[in-house]
Amino acid sequence: MVSTKEYFQNVWDALKTTAIGMRITGKYLMQKPITVQYPDERLPIPDRYRGIHYLEQEKCINCLACARACPIDCIEMDAIRHGKELEWVAFTLDYQKCMFCELCVYPCPKDCIHMGTEFALVTYDRSELNHDLLSFQGMGRGARIRMREAQAKKAAKEKAKAAAAAKKADTEKDADEPEAAGAGTGGDE
Ligand code: SF4
Ligand code: SF4
Repeated sequence: MVSTKEYFQNVWDALKTTAIGMRITGKYLMQKPITVQYPDERLPIPDRYRGIHYLEQEKCINCLACARACPIDCIEMDAIRHGKELEWVAFTLDYQKCMFCELCVYPCPKDCIHMGTEFALVTYDRSELNHDLLSFQGMGRGARIRMREAQAKKAAKEKAKAAAAAKKADTEKDADEPEAAGAGTGGDE
């Protein structure tokens, strides 16, 4: 059985603690909320944040410098070379292994692999963590045009070379014929 004194003490404690709580609530009531409704809202991310990589594929020369610099072999790439142009097969980065150290970025001679500001790697399937960094498979439009131009140039060069060789052969033949004719006349005398 609660005594009258205890009863009023409990009432007082309840009012007092509610007032303390409401004072804290009141302090933040008029302030701008600091809660971020992720993923609909995101805090600003610093430019030098080391997030998920992205590749400027058109600039990449398949030199493997980034893959060799990676201490845990996360990067794999494959491309077929057609003269100076590349036909891309694969360029993957495995985020099951990556430790976001950025060591792959510095040695790139073309400055074409970067770490971006994206960080969400949530997935139900681990195989999805092996990211494909290619924006397109095969050859890029620019590369295809450049390759066709180079092939046309080469064909024209070879044609000109063949024509020059044929012309030279004709000239040598023409030069040989009078000599042969002259030799024939001398025999008759
Ligand atoms: S950030 Fe580090 S671990 Fe990840 S791919 Fe680049 S070099 Fe490898
Ligand atoms: S170092 Fe740069 S240019 Fe070389 S393969 Fe990697 S991304 Fe491409």
